[in-house]
Amino acid sequence: MHNNLRFISGIYNYCDRWCKRCLFTSRCLNYAMTEKISGGSSDNLFVREIQKLFDQAYGMINEIASERGMDTDFADAFFTSDKIASRVEEAENHCLAKGASEYSKKVDEWFKIECPSFDNSSDHRGADLEESVEVIQWYKHLVSAKLSRALYGNQLYSEEAGDVARKDSDGSVKAALIGMDRSIRAWGRLKEYFPHKTDKISVMLLHLDRLRGKTELEFPGARAFVRPGFDVLN
Ligand code: SF4
Repeated sequence: MHNNLRFISGIYNYCDRWCKRCLFTSRCLNYAMTEKISGGSSDNLFVREIQKLFDQAYGMINEIASERGMDTDFADAFFTSDKIASRVEEAENHCLAKGASEYSKKVDEWFKIECPSFDNSSDHRGADLEESVEVIQWYKHLVSAKLSRALYGNQLYSEEAGDVARKDSDGSVKAALIGMDRSIRAWGRLKEYFPHKTDKISVMLLHLDRLRGKTELEFPGARAFVRPGFDVLN
């Protein structure tokens, strides 16, 4: 499947994982594989299939490594070394990682306290309102996941992989920034629907806007990153 030219290489690394809304499902290897594995099967079967794939991959790596006389403990050693542990800690404690995780908690709190009727996204006050809620809910974790991926990449691999790692991080950050842009617009729409909640919504907007500004400062090349498929077709 990987060699099939219809697939856009690496498109799934910099997307927002919102496959239901994606225009590139037919050109995404990740989507095709997920469909192939899960097609018509129950969740448990899906998990077992994934486990089987990991086991097979792990077995193949071991086989190839022992054929070539390589030490298969290298991955464990890599991830448990002091140097790596401290880089992971640095990434976890980075102000962007913390700010993003704080934001997703704030979103949950906001919907729980301010708008309990949105708990199941079942409000009936119009499609636009529902759309705004869906956008906020979708991106609240995505922003954090993409920023963490970028920070880990920067901390763990930039020394060894240089520009490649930094560009990959820029791609993840671009996906996070787009998520923040869309969320900010969605909060703005919510403000129109709930003028009496302006203060509370402004707190969310301020938090997100600051996070976006800090992200752009930390990753100045991210906005210009060209995402395969979304920004350029190949
Ligand atoms: S590129 Fe589209 S189809 Fe593929 S994982 Fe991302 S959102 Fe889903």
